[in-house]
Amino acid sequence: MSITEPMPGETLPPATGPGAEPTNVLLPGHDVPLGRYTTVRRLLPQRQLRTVGAWCFVDHFGPDDVANRPGMGIGPHPHTGLQTVTWLVHGEVRHLDSLGNDQLIRPGQLNVMTSGFGIAHSEYSPPEHPPVLHGLQLWVALPEAARSGPPGFAHHADLPVLREQGFSVTVLVGEVGGLRSPAVVHTPLLGAQLWLPDGGPARMPLTAGFEHGLLVMSGAAEVGGVALTPGSLLHLGSGRADLAVEAAGPTRLMLLGGEPFDEALVMWWNFVGRSHEEIAEARADWAAGAPRFGRVHDDDSDPLPAPPMPGTRLKSRDRHGRTVG
Ligand code: MN
Repeated sequence: MSITEPMPGETLPPATGPGAEPTNVLLPGHDVPLGRYTTVRRLLPQRQLRTVGAWCFVDHFGPDDVANRPGMGIGPHPHTGLQTVTWLVHGEVRHLDSLGNDQLIRPGQLNVMTSGFGIAHSEYSPPEHPPVLHGLQLWVALPEAARSGPPGFAHHADLPVLREQGFSVTVLVGEVGGLRSPAVVHTPLLGAQLWLPDGGPARMPLTAGFEHGLLVMSGAAEVGGVALTPGSLLHLGSGRADLAVEAAGPTRLMLLGGEPFDEALVMWWNFVGRSHEEIAEARADWAAGAPRFGRVHDDDSDPLPAPPMPGTRLKSRDRHGRTVG
């Protein structure tokens, strides 16, 4: 998964200015083709909302019928300045990286790859794979203190699950109801799957100092009078004590949150940085095969070439999409 096109925010509606209060702003995502067979729903970044907490990129893929197709096939590519968080509802994906990790991920498990200053990885459906592929690829922007650090990778086969009457909450990142995910992140952050197998109401506590966004992976829900279906992100703002959801039938949601991320970012292709120059340097390093990114072990596929740099300078944007500097 990567940003393989000009910044999508340029084509989104004008800012509605979600502020530091509870809101119910429905932000439609947009479809992005990935390879020959897959179209993903990109829900972040958006023109007027670049981040939710430090979450800076949200792609929802599937459910896709991959029974007689290759499925996911993303060759070696670099990252810098971020963590990738992979979550599956259906299917299997094999992760390979330049640290030598070779990890199959299955539904209910979590992969967290930390790029630090630089890493390269690839992601493939195994040759023999389940017929359906459905999941999320998320990025977390690393704060200044962690973004130049060493790369790393962690696979979490078991995540804490809070079981309530009529629904469950799987804690991917952060903490819910006293249950804490083992995933290591570098800013106060939350990622939680809400599963309502029979629909109905669900209520869960929120951290009031966090901002939150909510998406539906399957099914349909209503939050604060707003109907939510797959393909949109509901920005909830901050200052909420809890979240109340009403689902019409079996529904799976992902709640993302965190302390509002105050560092302005430049996001381009697979890189998160702070300036045009940094991005240009990362691109040149990848093109040159620099040791910064290393080589993906056990992967003979051609590395993905970076697209050409745009003709204009990449701009640094704050979390509301305003250019900075
Ligand atoms: Mn990637």
